[in-house]
Amino acid sequence: MNFIHKEYRPETDVKNYHVHLYYDGGTKLHAANLRRELDRRFGKQIEFGRWRDLAPQGPHPVSHFQVTFPTELFDVLVPFLALNRGDLHILLHPNTGNGYEDHTTNVMWIGPSIPLAEDWMQRNQKRMQEAAEEMAADK
Ligand code: ZN
Repeated sequence: MNFIHKEYRPETDVKNYHVHLYYDGGTKLHAANLRRELDRRFGKQIEFGRWRDLAPQGPHPVSHFQVTFPTELFDVLVPFLALNRGDLHILLHPNTGNGYEDHTTNVMWIGPSIPLAEDWMQRNQKRMQEAAEEMAADK
């Protein structure tokens, strides 16, 4: 990717963050315990997505659930997940209103990364954009 002529975006473009916690049969129990602990610690400030056992789903290659959290929680929630992720792979991305970019260029990982379905994202850029705009309008 060529960033030479790209304008720098300010961090204030970030509306909130997602973490996607990926699990399999061997790590689901840990994922469930961690989800419960996140709820206990941050319950009212964060929003849980449902369990998505079916995979692949959208760009996500393995089972996962998602957590939405406000920017103010970044320096508390991210280290908590880093210290307690066990074997889980956790995708962390900002929500800036550009769904495609937020899941490609803008991603961060807690633990080793898992390749997302780039081909699915290429085919569904418009859909990802609409979802991101819907989410931004909610705010
Ligand atoms: Zn997400």
